[in-house]
Amino acid sequence: MTCKTLAIFSAAKSLNWRTSYFFAGYLGSLGKNSDKSGVSQPLGRIHFGRSLVKRPSAVKYCGPNFLSAIVGKIEICYILFMQNLTAKERLAIPPQKMPELSPEVRSKTMDEVAIGYSAEEAKKEALRCLNCKKPGCIDGCPVRIDIPKFISHIADGDFQSAIDTIKERSLLPAVCGRVCPQEKQCQKKCPRPVEIGRLERFVADWERENGTVKIPEVKAETGKKVAVIGSGPASLVVAADVRREGHSVTIFEAFHKLGGVMRYGIPEFRLPNSIVDKEIETLKKMGVEFKTNFVVGKTRKISDLLKKDCFDAVFIGTGAGLPLFMGIPGEELNGVFSANEFLTRANLMRAYERDFADTPLWEGKEVAVLGGGNVAMDAARVSVRLGAKVRIIYRRTAAEMPARAEEIHHAMEEGVEFCYLQSPSEILGDEKGFVRALKIERYKLGEPDDKGRPRPVKLEGESFELPVDTVLVAIGNSSNPLISQGMPELKVNKRGNIELLNPETNATYVEGVFAGGDIVLGAATVILAMGEGRRAAKGILLYLNKQPN
Ligand code: FAD
Repeated sequence: MTCKTLAIFSAAKSLNWRTSYFFAGYLGSLGKNSDKSGVSQPLGRIHFGRSLVKRPSAVKYCGPNFLSAIVGKIEICYILFMQNLTAKERLAIPPQKMPELSPEVRSKTMDEVAIGYSAEEAKKEALRCLNCKKPGCIDGCPVRIDIPKFISHIADGDFQSAIDTIKERSLLPAVCGRVCPQEKQCQKKCPRPVEIGRLERFVADWERENGTVKIPEVKAETGKKVAVIGSGPASLVVAADVRREGHSVTIFEAFHKLGGVMRYGIPEFRLPNSIVDKEIETLKKMGVEFKTNFVVGKTRKISDLLKKDCFDAVFIGTGAGLPLFMGIPGEELNGVFSANEFLTRANLMRAYERDFADTPLWEGKEVAVLGGGNVAMDAARVSVRLGAKVRIIYRRTAAEMPARAEEIHHAMEEGVEFCYLQSPSEILGDEKGFVRALKIERYKLGEPDDKGRPRPVKLEGESFELPVDTVLVAIGNSSNPLISQGMPELKVNKRGNIELLNPETNATYVEGVFAGGDIVLGAATVILAMGEGRRAAKGILLYLNKQPN
């Protein structure tokens, strides 16, 4: 069977590469099945044990049958046979689309939109990598993962080595593979570009679903103690790196659940909580201690942690959780929320389950979301799932929107309307104090600002009323001042972000206190927060080494 297949493909290949690839694609498509939900799935899709990610009930996965087994084998034989591809042949392989729930199905459920590559799709996508002599993708990755190496392991079908390669540099590949803005980072530097994030996600899921996640080795106990404030990505990286060296680590988290914005900001349909839980489970197995419902600054001050509780060092990773408002009349009306509050209620307290939740979400029918970042897209897409008609109001154009391209695309597919070059000057209320409309001003693009983005310029006399009953404000976040107020020696800038004494070690102006992530950078990204955490951990380890035992 294998020899025959090879002979067929060999003949096809010697005729014309494109023809042979088309032939394989045709065979693959024979085995595909588009179910009612619109999800196109290869038959005989390889499954690796029980999935931790809740699979949507509307999606039917076809088990292996005779035809699918044959098609699968032919595809794999073909791919293996084509290992030594020329650059021209690699360029001819089309990008592998990510299977996802159709907009009609997903806009009524919190289930994850993207379903993930099958092993065959991942291998094919990996074969598109050109193995550049000077791989720009590594420079584009904030934590410098050896991307060509992990991709070539996938092409060889060695998924374990692929995930091991990623984990040399990144603690949270299943998270980053889902939410990193790859198109602005690694993929931006790729000449063609390969779907690096989707491949990262594939191997991370493969490892988790196969039960081969390795618990990092922890050195003998040193007797030294480190307090980590907050449980977002920056803090989790610090905890892992410091614990590995044998120091005791306690994470203090204000909320009752762990994971920071990964849990209470980013909705389930983009990043399922089960994935965040799994990453935290690894830390627990390493011996990291967690204390939830513990607000540092209120429950206990940092100075108490250092002096009374005998912690040798403290890391502050408290994020940028204080939402900004527009400062326009009417923001006090019923029906106006910060997108942060709206998302936190939804994600942390499942407030979208209106019949069961203790604090069910407000039932908006006509929702306006103010802003154009990831937070705005998430708030808009949660509102869609609650049955509202949703408009994004953004004062620049699509080209300037800071949200990830994929999120904008998904929001559009789900029916969110994008109103560009518009911004409200007032929120109008009814006689009972509820929102009834927005007074919207029209804008045009003007000269670039200091970040190079064109400034929105108001068009005088062009305002109009937009009837809405709910306004979600998503124009940015700053830092909660609780920590800095309780420790005035910490230096903060005018936005409340902690200033570092040494950006190489993330040491603050207070001895033994380090900081990183959004509390230093301002609202940024998961991967940048992780990079900060790694640098801070190195700083803490150097500091602890200098302390007497
Ligand atoms: P956080 O993740 O903010 O965690 C801080 C933690 O500290 C929280 O759990 C908080 O409860 C806790 N805390 C705060 N104060 C105290 C205190 N006094 N005591 C104890 N605990 C405290 N990034 C991406 O890369 N891709 C995306 O798609 C993306 N989408 C996003 C969507 C939304 C809705 C939001 C809000 C952000 C998004 N981001 C995205 C940004 C990303 O999530 C953040 O940059 C990242 O989580 C910052 O990590 P961090 O560790 O600094 O802090």
